[in-house]
Amino acid sequence: MCGFVGLIGVDSASTALCLGLQAVQHRGQDAAGIATYDGAGRLHLYKDLGRVAEVFSRESLQTLTGRAGVAQVRYPTVGASTRNDAQPFITRRPSIALAHNGNVTNLTELNAYLESRGMRTYSGCDAEPILLILADELLRLKVTGHTADDLAVAVTKTMSRVRGSYSVVAVLEVDDQPTLVAFRDPHGIRPAVYGQRADGAWSAVSESVSLDVNDFRLVGEVPPGSMVLLRAGAEPVVRELLPEPRRACVFEDIYFARPDSVMSGGSVYARRWALGERLADEWKAKGLEADVVVAVPDTSRPAAQAMAERLGLPYREGFIKNRYSARTFIMPDQATREAEMRLKINLIDGIFRDQRVIVVDDSIVRGTTMRRLVSKVREHGPAAVHVTIFSPAVKHPCFYGIDMPSKQELVAHGPATGPELEDRLAEHFGADSVTFLSREGLVEVAGNDICAACFTGAYPVEVDEEERGHIVRDRRPDAPTAAAS
Ligand code: SF4
Repeated sequence: MCGFVGLIGVDSASTALCLGLQAVQHRGQDAAGIATYDGAGRLHLYKDLGRVAEVFSRESLQTLTGRAGVAQVRYPTVGASTRNDAQPFITRRPSIALAHNGNVTNLTELNAYLESRGMRTYSGCDAEPILLILADELLRLKVTGHTADDLAVAVTKTMSRVRGSYSVVAVLEVDDQPTLVAFRDPHGIRPAVYGQRADGAWSAVSESVSLDVNDFRLVGEVPPGSMVLLRAGAEPVVRELLPEPRRACVFEDIYFARPDSVMSGGSVYARRWALGERLADEWKAKGLEADVVVAVPDTSRPAAQAMAERLGLPYREGFIKNRYSARTFIMPDQATREAEMRLKINLIDGIFRDQRVIVVDDSIVRGTTMRRLVSKVREHGPAAVHVTIFSPAVKHPCFYGIDMPSKQELVAHGPATGPELEDRLAEHFGADSVTFLSREGLVEVAGNDICAACFTGAYPVEVDEEERGHIVRDRRPDAPTAAAS
């Protein structure tokens, strides 16, 4: 999972790109990079491992001159964790700087294709083949002087070769003017929105919070399978290229995106609230009773507050998150994740004692955090601990950019579903009950046009066994290859 920012028509674009990146730091903490376009094909690039504030200094930003550029924060689900794999990537012929968020699922095929065209990649990052194919398709049309029509042809051909999830932002010269282009895979699995500022500047970003921080107004979403051309002071040009039924990742709503972001045409906060209300109804239908609702911070807070309101129960803060620890779910290896988890959350004494507590969390992936939390809650003498999850059970790996690589690592994997699964997990966590939101409840809130493959196994883009094997191996070089679904 990653986050990107693209800008055009902004003085000192590098500073604004840096601010935009900081707004999506939660989407990737492994590496950060900025490439700026300085006119007449000149590109400047700076990227390194680390968080945004660690990678960039005032001096490094000053070397990134230009009024347009793209930037990215990276969390590697594919490729190594080296500077070489950090984004953006650039080509000099034609001059393009490109960054993306997503996970390309046919990397082996793309690398073989590139080799057949006399090219090779120098990183394990899937943004590089996207860029090389796009550049190659442009060069096949003409060497210089590309038009918007040329770009539409090249992006369509790139889309037809690249499979998986990808939201891409790039800056290049089109129709003899600097142009910011954003395009999204045919199903629009990963998010991408764009916005305008009063001075005519444009920005395309993963999450609208990167627009907010630079004073841009959200204009719209990059439609699935489409590209949007943005130029300073001009109207955006939206071209539908290769659209398929929309399948936006519902995990963005549940866990990944910031609650103050607007995506898929609505507020993430409002959707988390609605998921909490629906979960409350389903929990109540079980005939259970409780005294207090507590959220596992921070993602779960809106859903937990909604649940409390719906059930007529008090909401209390029972867990305090160490604000300087990272999100455990996106730490790249298990050992680091577990160490971070021990640092992450502490309990407030007195909230749990003699209470029948509803603990609300966004999802259960490996289950290690919840097991530890319930054990900590038990130390505080509750009358009962009811675990509630405002998403269905994660039973399948994600191949589109979120790190849940093998079924064996998912605590809910296996044939059990419904009450049988909930009882098994209640025992595993040491809880009195476990309640997942039903798939029907999820669809009622989030709609039918979502990717929910990690819950259902219905993948919008087919990933064959060989590709699954590659993805799993590339993700977890420290672990034995696990059988994918
Ligand atoms: S499989 Fe799950 S996490 Fe992956 S894109 Fe689909 S909904 Fe999102």
